[in-house]
Amino acid sequence: YQPGRTALTDVSFRIQAGERIAVVGPSGGGKSTLASLLLGFIEPDEGQIYYAGRPLTEIEISSWREKVVWVPQKPYLFNDTIAANLKVGHPSANQDELVRAAKLAQADDFILSLPNGYETVVGERGVRLSAGEAQRIALARAFLKDAELVILDEATSHLDLENEAAVEKAISSLLKSRTVLVIAHRLSTVRQA
Ligand code: ADP
Repeated sequence: YQPGRTALTDVSFRIQAGERIAVVGPSGGGKSTLASLLLGFIEPDEGQIYYAGRPLTEIEISSWREKVVWVPQKPYLFNDTIAANLKVGHPSANQDELVRAAKLAQADDFILSLPNGYETVVGERGVRLSAGEAQRIALARAFLKDAELVILDEATSHLDLENEAAVEKAISSLLKSRTVLVIAHRLSTVRQA
């Protein structure tokens, strides 16, 4: 972000609770910037973001971040166990909650097939997960957190068919009864929004 060069201008929209909004546009068009603004990673130079009528600047960032979950295309996995990686947004979660979230994210089966199940170390110094598996970890984190607003950056990477189907299924159950802003890369997603 360079001074004097705006990444986004004249952006104004409203998301009703329970609505699903798709954002489409060319690379560099400002989609990720929009997500970063909503997540409070960056602040707008001008204008305001409101949640339930209150400016975000008046809301404690930690309480705001409890309400929002970010499902990126390429989730970051720590060099730690699957369990620790799942607990990122909800450190006090117990094993039952982890398993429930992993099941909802279609991740429980592959986790159990790893050498030490939920205690398997992943990341650069551990077991490497495929793109589809890593996405399901991100989705499980989102289920565990049970946030109101999901900001989803839809995957563009090519997944094998089995992973693709599992990810799709997990996403559609995550998005049910939540408010969603999806950075969409597929026409089918745009149609559903
Ligand atoms: P999209 O997600 O639609 O591809 P981005 O929000 O990433 O678009 O980018 C919008 C604009 O903001 C671009 O001009 C880009 O160069 C700039 N930008 C995005 N992220 C950064 C960053 N971390 N540092 C500097 N400029 C950035």
